[in-house]
Amino acid sequence: MTEIIVVGAGVLGTSVAYRLARAGAKVTVLEATRVGGGTSGISFAWTNSSNKTPRAYHDLNVAGMRAHAALKDEFGATPWWHGGGRIEWRAESEQAALKAKVERLRSWDYAAEWIDRKQLLELEPDIAPEAVGDAPIAWYPNDGWLDPVVYAHAMMSAARRHGATLRTQTRVAGLIVEGGRAKGVRSEGGETFHADIVVNCTGRWSNDTVGAAAPNVPLAPTIGFLVFTPPVPASIQRVIASPICDFRPDGAGRLMLHWGAADATVTPEIGVNPGMEQAQDLVDRLLRILPGLAPLKPEAARVTVRPIPQDGLSAIGPVPGVENYYVMVTHSGATLSPVLGAMAADEIVNGRTRPELSSFRPARFFP
Ligand SMILES: Cc1cc2nc3c(=O)[nH]c(=O)nc-3n(C[C@H](O)[C@H](O)[C@H](O)COP(=O)(O)OP(=O)(O)OC[C@H]3O[C@@H](n4cnc5c(N)ncnc54)[C@H](O)[C@@H]3O)c2cc1C
Repeated sequence: MTEIIVVGAGVLGTSVAYRLARAGAKVTVLEATRVGGGTSGISFAWTNSSNKTPRAYHDLNVAGMRAHAALKDEFGATPWWHGGGRIEWRAESEQAALKAKVERLRSWDYAAEWIDRKQLLELEPDIAPEAVGDAPIAWYPNDGWLDPVVYAHAMMSAARRHGATLRTQTRVAGLIVEGGRAKGVRSEGGETFHADIVVNCTGRWSNDTVGAAAPNVPLAPTIGFLVFTPPVPASIQRVIASPICDFRPDGAGRLMLHWGAADATVTPEIGVNPGMEQAQDLVDRLLRILPGLAPLKPEAARVTVRPIPQDGLSAIGPVPGVENYYVMVTHSGATLSPVLGAMAADEIVNGRTRPELSSFRPARFFP
């Protein structure tokens, strides 16, 4: 039986662990903190292929969206995935770009439509029409969002039902390479774990995990800042993207807010908190769209780092120079995790080469 170590138990590691274990491999997942304790635990997690170019990346993300929907047949219920769709309107200066995007998406058979104000208010009656004005409104019925930690836990539980082992609080400190082949990993605590194949799913920490033992996928990480409301009396059911801020439901009546420009105002080191000015600014922005919630204060603020390969695309596959070592790093992990888990396991266990991944190989960084 092939023994495989998966390092990292975020949405990617747990997805591939599940598929590998289901395919009959002996899987051990080593996780430095807890399931979903990395970027997956602080993510807007919109499942989509709205801004994903070129075409191969778009198609991969569409496959990810379909894979989330298909998990319902496999698991009976998928309480971690919400397919409510997405609504988008933009400021006048960005409306031409929105129109071009909707046209591109439609020409690529992606569900993207224009709706009028009446339809908007049927979908989301709490939105103040003044916040939208006369902006054209785009509607993407197949978009949704993920509860990544709930998803990762479900995948890890399913992997364990197929015999996988999980070790949390186990930080990998190095890849063991002998004769150009990965043979296992060493933990920070000095333990050695032997394996036939090592799969590195440690996201933004991917390079720290292996150090100089294998070529490092160059990353261009960015900071993400999210603000959370307390439970609010609003009936928002979908992802909303606007020139004021983006938001979506986050369970029990809470809303999760993101505003691109605010990302640059924080760093992971400053220790964000709900009392900070940037957090209240996001909530004040939300109140321009949902004025009925005023007065309102943030309940939580969180900051994390996006795991982004240098060219913005995913890096999935073997790494040149070290056999039996496979890397999975992507910034679209919420969308892609179920499809990447299945494709990677197919390659690792069945020895296939998935053509859908040909544009996303780590090898492109090591010509
Ligand atoms: C603000 C923000 C918004 C986002 N929005 C979206 C979105 O709308 N749609 C979308 O699809 N994606 C989105 N993403 C990206 C998505 O969240 C990530 O692509 C995804 O969570 C990455 O998952 P992962 O499993 O690769 O990494 P992680 O979740 O970071 O998992 C890596 C795991 O490895 C562990 N680890 C690290 N080092 C070691 C080690 N040495 N030994 C053992 N374990 C280790 C960590 O503890 C962690 O649990 C967003 C990200 C951010 C930050």
